[in-house]
Amino acid sequence: MSNETEKKRTGMYENVMHEFNKAADKMNLDPGVRKILASTQNEIVVHFPVKMDDGSIEVFTGYRVQHNNALGPYKGGLRYHPTVDIDAAKALATWMTWKSAIAGLPYGGGKGGIQIDPSKYSKGELERITRRFTYALGDNIGPDYDIPAPDVNTNAQIMAWISDTYASAKSPANRSVNLHVVTGKPVVSGGLAGRDRATGFGVVTAIKKWAKKNNVDLNGKTYIVQGFGNVGYWAAHFLHKEGAKLIAVQDHTGSIANANGIDPEELSAYAKTNKGGVGGFEKAQKIENAEFWKTPCDILIPAALGNQITVDNANEIKATLIAEGANGPTDAAAEEIILKKGIHIIPDILCNSGGVIGSYFEWLQNKRAEIWKIEEVLEKLNDKIETAFDNVVSCAERYKTDYRTAAYIVALEKLEQVYKERGVFP
Ligand code: NAD
Repeated sequence: MSNETEKKRTGMYENVMHEFNKAADKMNLDPGVRKILASTQNEIVVHFPVKMDDGSIEVFTGYRVQHNNALGPYKGGLRYHPTVDIDAAKALATWMTWKSAIAGLPYGGGKGGIQIDPSKYSKGELERITRRFTYALGDNIGPDYDIPAPDVNTNAQIMAWISDTYASAKSPANRSVNLHVVTGKPVVSGGLAGRDRATGFGVVTAIKKWAKKNNVDLNGKTYIVQGFGNVGYWAAHFLHKEGAKLIAVQDHTGSIANANGIDPEELSAYAKTNKGGVGGFEKAQKIENAEFWKTPCDILIPAALGNQITVDNANEIKATLIAEGANGPTDAAAEEIILKKGIHIIPDILCNSGGVIGSYFEWLQNKRAEIWKIEEVLEKLNDKIETAFDNVVSCAERYKTDYRTAAYIVALEKLEQVYKERGVFP
């Protein structure tokens, strides 16, 4: 691993703490509560063996970090990616605590995953890796304790395997309750209609709120997207419906651009035939990855990994708004540069909260043995994001601060109140 990669990876939790300390200072957070929230509650690391297709045995490392459960069960995704490590899991779990609080959900924050490149494994191997990881986590997850969900390189199929494994191991004769240990399941297996698009829909709901507040007409505005997976594609899909024009996309296979516009549906259909990658799309030109960040546009949506906007490219960005679909795409030093340039940021913990809100609806639907219609889901999702957006804006005005700091303050005020009401056991 190069030093550069190491620097970036250890930076993620440092960023969280930088943001946390900035907000805690601004609102004068109670010192005791500050100590509690500056720490995670549980950090679980498991090493587990899996039989490969050729009969050999590999040992994998998986993580689950539980940051805080003052507001409810731990909640957050599982990621399969080579950059998953304890630092990334801690950062992502901590962001989940703030995100759930801002969205007004009865959840705490958790996150985890396995340090693998899933493209290197067959479907059968991925199933066995997933099932054995679930088994290794054991009682560290549960439908009322810690409820994982999809994240980078994990999807409804992986959730179905986790659900089946957990329920089979936990209560073979009475599986139904334990099947709901995860959200983001396939719809027929207890998933929520619309959970697939919930995060991207929420990103665009937040953009629409920002546009209304700033008297911006989205029709004809240009946007670029980094990451064309679940979040990137659905955000592009919904922004396209507002009349905005997608002019550049970057993913792990390269960067493409077309000033006349790229149809998100055509690009998605192409990516499905190209192992999920946008590289080589014939209706756009290939551009260098560095050029992607320099593309003049109205809206930039990072929807891939963390620490993508750094001092290396922050000065080059020519957007009016950055709407953070990804978790932690902008590091602390880059944010300073961007805010100085007058570029607005809708921070991740507000902008991409549609995912956890959709997960909450799925959890409620499962608990009540109900099946919700997609129209109902999207309407409720819209209401929750609009309320969260309004709360963050009014906090930003109250404290005369940026939206990220305000979003943290909304979360921290809620958590501070809970700790003051309940006290600290014993
Ligand atoms: P995904 O696996 O569906 O897509 C990830 C995308 O990132 C892919 O298009 C991939 O090509 C791209 N990517 C990976 N490495 C890259 C690189 N080095 N450079 C450029 N692009 C790269 O994952 P997703 O679920 O869409 O998640 C994307 C981001 O959104 C993550 O930060 C995730 O934590 C966040 N998020 C996801 C959800 C959700 O519901 N899925 C909810 C909230 C936040």
